Amino acid sequence: MDDRIERLQRRSAKNEGILSLAGGLPANELFPRQKLASAFLSVVSRPNCEALQYGWPEGSEGLRKWIADRLRGRGADVSPDDVIVTSGAQQALAIAVELIGIDGRVVATEEETYPGALDLFRDRGAKTASASRATNADAACIYVVAGASNPRGLPLSELRRAELLASGRPLLVDEAYAELRFDGYVAPPFLVDARDRTFHIGTFSKTLCPGLRVGWLVAPPELAADALRVKRDLDLQAGSMAQAVVEGYLALDDFDQRIVRARKTYASRAGRLVRALRRYMPEARWVEPEGAFAVFVETDLEGVDEAHALAIANAHGVSYDPGSMFRPGAALDPFGFRLCYSSRTGEEIEEAVQRLARALGEVRARKAA
Ligand code: PMP
Repeated sequence: MDDRIERLQRRSAKNEGILSLAGGLPANELFPRQKLASAFLSVVSRPNCEALQYGWPEGSEGLRKWIADRLRGRGADVSPDDVIVTSGAQQALAIAVELIGIDGRVVATEEETYPGALDLFRDRGAKTASASRATNADAACIYVVAGASNPRGLPLSELRRAELLASGRPLLVDEAYAELRFDGYVAPPFLVDARDRTFHIGTFSKTLCPGLRVGWLVAPPELAADALRVKRDLDLQAGSMAQAVVEGYLALDDFDQRIVRARKTYASRAGRLVRALRRYMPEARWVEPEGAFAVFVETDLEGVDEAHALAIANAHGVSYDPGSMFRPGAALDPFGFRLCYSSRTGEEIEEAVQRLARALGEVRARKAA
């Protein structure tokens, strides 16, 4: 990311006068604080001190069983031994690319995708290209955010799914938001159709909370032992305490009910953002999200300095994530941005979009001057 943009984002995150639609944070109100506190107290009080001790690199057996059961419920032939608990989806991705070996090669992605993955691929020496530009045969692997995408909140089309399956390439399938489609539909995991070349990546960050840093990886069976070795080399294991708290929490709550509530909250916030965009920024282009946390908006402007535009937005009391962060070629045009509704109330969303419309007016006027 452009250093100027990172500085602005860090500064605006601390500024209470700025309504931020950046960052993709889950709603604070949805964190089950009481139940997490009870789970913490319960696991820390156990005489065997499991939550305070070292564990094995693959992670807690109970948690792996819960994850495998959930995947099996969706039709995948996965056992607890196939699952590695990781420090978030981000580490699962890092392990996967280490196994594939992407240095000097191309990683193909959608036209817009998750910036944390793009940064990782580039930092590991890969060139990132949208799947429409990279031919499948060139790609070391194809990365896709399945279920509901980041930044657009859209499911994969059946056509795209079929293309990915037909590609024959290793597939990095990131299911960070797969359970957060507003209509409740959860597509079968790619593990069902391409078990031997799917790196299935999941996380509790969006459905429970990101602070505990608990995610998972299911690697192709042939690479499972190597995946475990890489995990051990990185950090020995995911934190015992975080895993124990998640497991303890899952025993105390109805996770499916929790997801139903989360979908409702996010769908209602998405609706508020969409209505505000229609009203205050009618010239903008975007597609109504079907899940996840955000809308990706494009404008008719070209050649805009993103850091300059973000500084103007901040001066108007609003923040967002600039569009180039999500594009595999880091393209600036058309000028666009991701707006996250997930952690904001309806009133805040409405106000933020009004501020953004005024800021865009200023960006436009300055460009014309
Ligand atoms: N994948 C996607 C698509 C994401 O949006 C995010 C978080 N923004 C991650 C992975 C990282 O998730 P985690 O907190 O589990 O590392």
